[in-house]
Amino acid sequence: MISVTEYKPQEEVLEFLEKCQSVYIIGCGSCTTITHTGGKAEVLKMKESLAETGKEITGWMVIPTACDELAKDALKEAGDEIQSADCLLIMTCAFGVQNIAMFTGKPVFPALNTIFIGKEQTTPGLFSEVCRQCGDCVLAWTGGICPVVSCSKGLLNGPCGGTDEGKCEVDSDKDCAWTMIYNRLKDQGRLDLFDKEQPPKHYQSGTRPGKITIQ
Ligand code: SF4
Ligand code: SF4
Repeated sequence: MISVTEYKPQEEVLEFLEKCQSVYIIGCGSCTTITHTGGKAEVLKMKESLAETGKEITGWMVIPTACDELAKDALKEAGDEIQSADCLLIMTCAFGVQNIAMFTGKPVFPALNTIFIGKEQTTPGLFSEVCRQCGDCVLAWTGGICPVVSCSKGLLNGPCGGTDEGKCEVDSDKDCAWTMIYNRLKDQGRLDLFDKEQPPKHYQSGTRPGKITIQ
């Protein structure tokens, strides 16, 4: 399970950095290395392209895991180079960006958009969203397949009527989530669940910011 990210358009990144003459670049050795959006190769490429625009790069690093507490120690090691930069360009997931902002106190700018929590499929490099952390899980009634993220319309009581030979009417390259749910429940002899009407989603359970105290 990883945080899936993609590059922000370069113009957007350059706009962020407009007032920064010197920049320190930070990638992550975990998720963004796997997705090739913030590993060593991508950080070095970013360094090169920013240098071409006239920016001074005071340094760079790839933190082993930017979203954990140990990131603080890694950042300390590069303290001078980080502090001498006007700002930090971060090539990690949004969690990492927030961590680095908190640990360094420097202006931080994300080079990436965090798009979802995903799972790698059997095709290498293909990731698909598995959960939107909606706070009101319905997997018990859907054979363990999430309709919130797998159905293009997020239907809780599907299918929509447009499914065609098991494919989705919105995206014919993907399997219809509700056909998959039907087949899974049928295989398990639990098709009675297919008739269970799901009430409207209780989105209040997923209000943001999420907060919990573990006792
Ligand atoms: S129903 Fe909600 S919590 Fe359950 S898998 Fe789907 S998005 Fe995640
Ligand atoms: S075809 Fe299936 S997956 Fe696509 S929107 Fe309709 S119910 Fe959802």
